[in-house]
Amino acid sequence: MISRREFNLGLGAALASTGTRATAAPYRGPNVIVIRYGGGVRRRETIDPAHSYSPYMLHDLAPRGVLIPDMVIDQLEGGNTSHAEGTLNILTGRYKAYRDAGSRFLTDRLEPVEPTLFEYLRDAYDIPSHQALLINGEDRPQEEFFTYGVHNHYGIDFRSEMLSLHRFKLYKVARQLEELGTDDPAHVDIEKQYQNLLAADPRDIAPKQSPDVTAFWRRWRLHYGDDGLRNPRGDRLLTELTIRAMEQLRPRLIMVNYQDPDYVHWGNASHYTRAIQVIDEGLQRIVRLADADDFYAGNTIFAIVPDCGRDANDLVSLPFQHHFNTRAAHEIFGLFFGPGITKGRVLDKQVDQTAVAPTLAALMGVQSPRTEGDILSELGA
Ligand SMILES: [Zn+2]
Repeated sequence: MISRREFNLGLGAALASTGTRATAAPYRGPNVIVIRYGGGVRRRETIDPAHSYSPYMLHDLAPRGVLIPDMVIDQLEGGNTSHAEGTLNILTGRYKAYRDAGSRFLTDRLEPVEPTLFEYLRDAYDIPSHQALLINGEDRPQEEFFTYGVHNHYGIDFRSEMLSLHRFKLYKVARQLEELGTDDPAHVDIEKQYQNLLAADPRDIAPKQSPDVTAFWRRWRLHYGDDGLRNPRGDRLLTELTIRAMEQLRPRLIMVNYQDPDYVHWGNASHYTRAIQVIDEGLQRIVRLADADDFYAGNTIFAIVPDCGRDANDLVSLPFQHHFNTRAAHEIFGLFFGPGITKGRVLDKQVDQTAVAPTLAALMGVQSPRTEGDILSELGA
């Protein structure tokens, strides 16, 4: 079997010979912000007016665009309604376009085997990697694998950059190693931390992290320091990373992978509803910045979509799960708004989660030949 590294090296050679990127045109389309309303949420606590814990999305954002109350994850043999799977359905526009990444270090680690929306965009247009961003959860290094698909037409040269606390720790510990002399007693411990962080993603990735992203982490460290006690945590951290990235890196495509409603696996229902409120507050900060900043105002499309639903039966001993293939775990929603999208429409039609990528690609003026979902022409104003 060909190793990941050999595969990537071969791919790089193939791309160099075609010179795809050198000829790519400057991008003049809309910015796109994808919000994964993640960690699995039900329609009831999000878009149902009688029970919603997401009032900003429901009352301020839905009237600005097209709400799709009946978006679903298709019932497929061998499909799973979970976080990585749903995220990759959204990013690739296909179902089951992933495989086990085969890590020795963590389970539950999938990687796409089809191109992601990031690759389609960066293949078609001259967009540097730091303007195609995934914002990931605090300690989900398994989602580091979503930045590009293992596919022989696109791949790592068209990947997104990743912002996450894991990435910051890698930056910080590498700098600490430089700053400490090798004879410093703390050096051994920091070196151990560094090796542990590297082990979470053993791929030998080239090209390396963009200098713009390294500069982003330098500023983050200056602001929040090294102790990890002053930066926000959980999904508030994702909001903070997103706000700073929007201000400093000017991304053209960004996906924010909120996740904290998933704490309901271990806790009670209030963890879940509180996490939904935190995402709703994050949405408010992100949309307000987009409305106020000239780079984004009037030129930014938002797509809000959950990774998966959750079980609807509250009477079972473990409510709010999503791994048992119940109907409600397949029931999600979609909300699109921005330039070119009809305002105040509720699309009364069942739509697949795989429609998100081809629809966004079309809105950006990008071909997405490997997607399988529908392009939602009904969004058009
Ligand atoms: Zn879960």
